[in-house]
Amino acid sequence: MLRTLQSFMRIDAEQADLNRARYRALSKQLPLMYGIVTINMIGLSATHATTAPLFLTVIFPIFLFAITVARTTKYIRSRHKVFSDEQIHASLTRTTWLVVPLALAFSIWGISFLPYGTPDQNAQALFFNSVSVIACAFCLMHIRAAAMLVLATVIPVTCIFLFMQNSFAYSNVAINLTLVALVLASILSSSERDFTQMILQKREQREQHLRLQALYEENKRLANTDSLTTLANRRQFLADIDDLVEKSETASNSFVVALLDLDGFKQVNDVFGHPAGDQVLVETAHRLNETFQDQNVLIARLGGDEFGLLFREPGSDEEVKVAARRACMALRKSYQFDEGSANLGATIGMARYPSAADTRSLLFDRADYALYYAKQNAKSEPVFFTVEHERMVFANSALEQALRHADLEAEMSVEFQPVLDLDRGHSRGLEALARWFSPTLGSVRPDIFIKAAENIGMIGRLTEVLFRKAVSEARLWPGDLTLSFNLSAVSLTSVEPLMRLFSIAQKQGFPANRLVFEITESAVMKDFESANVVLNYIRESGAHVAIDDFGTGFSSLAYVHRLPIDTLKVDRSFIRDLLRNEKSSNVLRSILSLCENLEIGCIIEGVETQEQFDLVCELGGRNIQGYYYSKPLSAGDAHMVLQIEFGDDHIESHIRQAV
Ligand code: C2E
Ligand code: CA
Ligand code: CA
Repeated sequence: MLRTLQSFMRIDAEQADLNRARYRALSKQLPLMYGIVTINMIGLSATHATTAPLFLTVIFPIFLFAITVARTTKYIRSRHKVFSDEQIHASLTRTTWLVVPLALAFSIWGISFLPYGTPDQNAQALFFNSVSVIACAFCLMHIRAAAMLVLATVIPVTCIFLFMQNSFAYSNVAINLTLVALVLASILSSSERDFTQMILQKREQREQHLRLQALYEENKRLANTDSLTTLANRRQFLADIDDLVEKSETASNSFVVALLDLDGFKQVNDVFGHPAGDQVLVETAHRLNETFQDQNVLIARLGGDEFGLLFREPGSDEEVKVAARRACMALRKSYQFDEGSANLGATIGMARYPSAADTRSLLFDRADYALYYAKQNAKSEPVFFTVEHERMVFANSALEQALRHADLEAEMSVEFQPVLDLDRGHSRGLEALARWFSPTLGSVRPDIFIKAAENIGMIGRLTEVLFRKAVSEARLWPGDLTLSFNLSAVSLTSVEPLMRLFSIAQKQGFPANRLVFEITESAVMKDFESANVVLNYIRESGAHVAIDDFGTGFSSLAYVHRLPIDTLKVDRSFIRDLLRNEKSSNVLRSILSLCENLEIGCIIEGVETQEQFDLVCELGGRNIQGYYYSKPLSAGDAHMVLQIEFGDDHIESHIRQAV
């Protein structure tokens, strides 16, 4: 019984929000309740002032009044205070338990007047008890237990007293009061249930809102995060720049946008596979995070192997450069993964707001120009944007424009540079080198216009024009002389471009076995598998494959034996250093012996002087290309040199054959 009562009285501490709502309601309603009780009390005391004892009319009311004032003040004050959940729970429990003694005290006090009053006064006393109890129950309706206790305390006490009077009228009042109390209890009960329901619904709504909010936040986070590296993604990076631009309009702040590009990432992907590539990206993110952990820098992966750094509090240009250099250094450390290891580098281009640009897109473009410049000129040294870079980019676009409108047949030509074969004492073949004389730009270097042609998707057409010109000269050369032709990386993505070249050679009657296609290491590494397919196709068609500029790119001998290669062409940078640097001659020696072991040819490029020539011979080089033997020659000059080398008759007979 006691336990049932206890559980009925218990206020659930878990329902913190419900308790808080109850407390809020009570702090408004209880002062009203005490107000009504006090007024009724004064009224009752006043009407009995002359008939009832002082204890009932003054002393006890003062005592009750003091309690009433104390409770009211407490509730009024509490409206402006912040309470913990525990405090509120304790207060509600206290209020519930206080209800019984207080209700008893009031009702007994009210009834105690009956022996002293006239019938009118008694009616007032009964009225006091009945109305007060109804008012109190209403005011306490948010604590069901308290409301019920008030009814359960006052009504029985009053009714017992009324029945004891043995008066039909009083008994009627008692029955009436009991019925009203029962109805009231049921109404209060259901309204308390509704109240609880409403609060719980509100809580449910709030929780749902919070869940949605969390979901929204999570979605937002995912939408702004790069899933592989967990860095911010491009969207977040751009949004943060926008934020800074917006803030800086009022606060005249400065910040730096830096774009970072990994050098050699694609090769890792191609040679070791995508999982290794992913590991490199994750490790890069980790190293960048470590490098900038103490600085206010947003690090983002913008896509592929491109990263963005947003220096929010950059300091001076030099300070930013120092930080960026640290990042480059961190990324230069060797990357280890299951399949092997690789050394990569990083290039960084930067633009400062607002000196370089004052809009997001311009900042981005200019950091990109600086990156472009850094890639061409200052690898591994971070570069701040200057107008020079923009000029360079625009010059490139002017060049692309001129190339787009060029009359390729008229403006393009081919020069030929002989490759000396020491064992035979004359040229073993000639390399075709593209030349462009533009009516608007003048002579343009081949490495520049070849890259431009790649950029604007013209390389296929250009290659065919150059190849046709080269072959139409080469078919006039003596029998076994080869024609070396440079292929751009784009030509290695599928066999179709090569098929077209072979058909051009065939139409002109030039045998495939006198063709050598030169491909740079970096072109092969751009897409190792496709390049492998194309190189095999070249070999199957009877032509030969040479790796150009060997030693400058990936610098890995690992792939050489995996590819169908006939010749390595050692880059001229080795020859340049040969006399000064012992390491170069060691490298050259080891490349020569590698070629010997693999039974492939080796051409030493860029031999310019007698000394270099002697040294190369000493190291065992047998095939030499460079200014020392011959500069690139016009078709006519090449023809003359071959006449000298092979004797007039020899050449004449070949020309006759070819015609
Ligand atoms: P490459 O294939 O390495 O060609 C050799 C380059 O070195 C040529 O420059 C040649 O003139 C130069 N050279 C030869 N001997 C010496 C020397 O002793 N000293 C020095 N300093 N340089 C020497 P060029 O003609 O300016 O060609 C540059 C690059 O342009 C070529 O490098 C090649 O990558 C590219 N290229 C040229 N023609 C074509 C072409 O028809 N198609 C493609 N895809 N690329 C071409
Ligand atoms: Ca070449
Ligand atoms: Ca070369």
